[in-house]
Amino acid sequence: MIVNTCQSCGLAFTKERSGTNRDKTLNSDYCIDCFKDGEFTNPHLSLHQLEIQLLEMAEIHNDISLEEAQQIIRKLPELKRWRMENI
Ligand SMILES: [Zn+2]
Repeated sequence: MIVNTCQSCGLAFTKERSGTNRDKTLNSDYCIDCFKDGEFTNPHLSLHQLEIQLLEMAEIHNDISLEEAQQIIRKLPELKRWRMENI
């Protein structure tokens, strides 16, 4: 099974959870939670908000461990969506 790392939220996703382009083809850079029909589902999301979401996933919903959340947060600035902020 091929697993990609979403270039927006930093979470791993499988082909079935791939984002979609405007022409309905799959986008292997982003997961479906972040990117649908060629657009970000939350275009105003900031890096800081995303960090809070990841910590909530770990602390409140137990989707990931706190350690995993912190690992992802450290890598977020390297992802395609957030690298642009440093230009
Ligand atoms: Zn994502």
